Order: sequence, then structure tokens, then C-alpha cells
Amino acid sequence: LSDRLSGVFDRLTKQGALSDEDVKTALREVRVALLEADVSLPVARDFVAAVQEKATGQAVTKSITPGQQVVKIVHDELVAVLTGDSDPGKLKIDSAPAPVLMVGLQGSGKTTTTAKLAKRLKERDGKRVLMASLDVNRPAAMEQLEILGRQIGVDTLPIVKGEDPVAIAKRAKTQASLGGYDVYMLDTAGRLHIDQELIAQAAAVRDAVNPRETLLVVDGLTGQDAVNVATEFDDKIGVSGVVLTRMDGDGRGGAALSMRKVTGKPIRFVGLGEKMDAIETFEAERIAGRILGMGDIVALVEKAQQTIEAEQAEKMMKRFQKGRFNMNDLKMQLEQMLKMGGMESLMGMLPGMGKMAKQAGSAGFDDKMLTRQIALINSMTKKERANPELLQASRKKRIAKGAGLEVSELNKLLKQQRQMADVMKKMGKGGMLKQAMKGMF
Ligand code: GDP
Ligand code: MG
Repeated sequence: LSDRLSGVFDRLTKQGALSDEDVKTALREVRVALLEADVSLPVARDFVAAVQEKATGQAVTKSITPGQQVVKIVHDELVAVLTGDSDPGKLKIDSAPAPVLMVGLQGSGKTTTTAKLAKRLKERDGKRVLMASLDVNRPAAMEQLEILGRQIGVDTLPIVKGEDPVAIAKRAKTQASLGGYDVYMLDTAGRLHIDQELIAQAAAVRDAVNPRETLLVVDGLTGQDAVNVATEFDDKIGVSGVVLTRMDGDGRGGAALSMRKVTGKPIRFVGLGEKMDAIETFEAERIAGRILGMGDIVALVEKAQQTIEAEQAEKMMKRFQKGRFNMNDLKMQLEQMLKMGGMESLMGMLPGMGKMAKQAGSAGFDDKMLTRQIALINSMTKKERANPELLQASRKKRIAKGAGLEVSELNKLLKQQRQMADVMKKMGKGGMLKQAMKGMF
């Protein structure tokens, strides 16, 4: 994907502005890319439509290149869709003992994930965890969990042959209460395909223990099919989150996007290997980058933005050095001051201006004044802003009136602008301007 996209974006980069047609061309590629990453067709289609709308609305505004602009919009939208939970890694384990139910198809990674999460709860949160296998179908499934339990130092419910899953779940609940456990995790049996018996069994267990969390474990490498499984489980059992396993493979993780879009359920964790520590809290940014196949898009875009800002700053500095400091410059500075917490803090940042800031403060130089000054500048025409020396009596009256202020205030502003132009020129000669401006951009 990244090759394909960068090709399109290179072409875009060479054109001037972000047109409707640019966006469409780029998004056609994005759509193909999503499908290649195993995102389901309707989801890819919807996603592209949403981006198209946003991109066209934003067109031409930003000072970054059109290609980068589209990449950023695509990336941001991906993150927005993928983000489902403000704290996906936090399991609801109030009211001890809290039941956590693990469901999913056979081989999806339920047993492994149960143990990984148990280890996490024990080590990170200091919880006392009990695990129980309800898998009466697969031979040695219960022993598998027991072995993992011993390996990570987490207790498992003693195995009793011949019990049905609901009976085991109830025994786990009793044992967890008596044993003073904070959590008990129920690892259920899976099937190769979803069927009524499996669903009925999971529903019966759910009704027996009323789980605080029901986590659906899904193989992140399975594409399209995973979404159907998730929908079915959620409809019939009710799911509080999804764990995507095998995200250590070379799959693009498109299932994550489909899963989110179709079920609306948050992705909570990602499995990244067979080892017991190979699990992480879900992070939308990471998966978004992976789906797009472009390592660090945000960094790329930010870098572009910085480059442009630096170029602008350089140009501005050259003007200032020549003593050209007009009302547009002043307005920008005033706005910056407002943003940065007012006059005093900003002037304190400019070398040699600390004292001036104190004087300014005592002269009633405050944030309200900044707003009034900005209003005055807004009341000027474009030409007047660029050439403040044009301002004679009649223009001054008009401007002051437009801002609802006195001409005397405008005069103060003009004086300030001339002083600033002067200071800038002097600082420019001493090389201090460059230093001062570093702090401002
Ligand atoms: P279950 O049938 O759903 O309980 O699946 P298991 O937990 O028994 O896992 C099936 C296989 O997948 C085992 O060999 C696991 O080691 C492996 N597995 C589970 N999670 C991951 C993962 O995140 N990455 C990789 N590479 N393998 C995993
Ligand atoms: Mg299992």
C-alpha cells in the first residue's frame, strides 16, 4: 500500500491545491489499500465516503502539501473510527469476585488470552485471579489452562471430569467467593464455526454468572469472516469488548476496522505472540498506521508542518530585520500573546524585555487590551494593515469607530507598532532577533 499511496501522493504534491479530483484519486487508492488490509467492502466504502466529505471540506486550507493533507485526514479518520474506549485496558473488576467471560471460535486464542490477562491483572493491578476452563469438548483443554496457570502463578479451578460448563462456572463462582479472589475468568470452549449449540452454551454460562466483562477473542488474521462471528456473538451473548490476537503476524489488521464499524464494540487488547507477556492494550494510532502500511504518518505530517512554519518564520525575520513590521505582524503577535498567557509572559521570553513587561503591566497593559488592539487591527483594510503609515485622521476615525473604541487607543497601537518595528530592526542587527524568534515559533 505505502508504495501505491506514495505514488499518488507524489503526484498530488506536485500540484498546487487540494481539489475534489485530487481527493477522489487519492481515495480510490485508499479504498483498494483498505481492502488489501482485509477491511470488509461495505466498511471500506463507508470509510472512504466519510473521508471524502471531510477532505473536500478542508481543502486548500492547510499550508501542508495536498498529498500530506489527504494522508493526515485518512489517518485521523481511521483513528477516530478505531477509538472505542477511553481506557480499553481497564477491566471492570469491581464487586469481588468479578466474573470475566471469554468467548470466541476454536483456535482464536481464548485460552492463551485468558492466561495473559490473568497475569496482567495479577502483576499490574495486584488482583487475586482464579481461572477456570469450561472447555469440555476438546481433550486436554482444561489441562492446557492448568499448565499455563502454573507457569504464571495463577490459580486454576480443580478439574472435575464429567461436569457441564454451567456447573463448572457455578463452582468457579463459589470457589472465587470462598477463596477471596477479586476476579474469576471463565475460558469457554469454541467451535470451528459458530453454531447454535455453542451459542446456547455460552448464553447459559452468561446467565449463570452474569459477567462483568464478556470478551470476544478474534483471530486478527481472519478477515471478512471475523466480522460475521463478532456480530453473531454480540447479538446472542452480548460482548463488552474484543481482543484481536495474532497481531504479531503480517496481517494488516483490517479486521480491527471492520470489527469496530460493524459491531460498534471497542477493541480492548491485542495479542502479539504466544508468550504470556505478548499482550497490549489496544492503541488506535498504532493500528491505523498499520492498516495504512505507512509507519509513522503523523510524524511525517508534523514534520511537513514544521518545515513550512520554519520557512515562514525565516521570511518574516528577513522583513523584520529591514524594519518592516506591519499591522498583520503585530496582530499575529498579539494573538500569540493571548494564546501564550498574556503580555507579561511573552515579553519575559524576549531577551531584554523583562523590564519592559513590568512597565507595560503597570501601564494597564493586559489581556483585555490585547483583545481591543486586535479589534482595531481587524477594523483596518488590507492595505492599511500592510502600510500603517497610510493612517491619517479620517481613516483613524473610521477604524476606531469600527472597533467601537477611541482614536487615542488607535494612536497608542500605532506607536506600539512603530516601536516594535524599531526594536526588531535593532535586534536584527545584533543577531538577537533570530534568537528571540526561536522561542516564538
Ligand atoms: P483457543 O482454542 O481459542 O483457546 O486458542 P488457544 O489459546 O489454544 O490458541 C491457539 C494457538 O494460537 C496456540 O498455539 C497459541 O499459542 C496461539 N496464539 C494465541 N494467541 C496468539 C497471538 O497473539 N499470536 C500468536 N502468534 N499466536 C497466538
Ligand atoms: Mg481453548
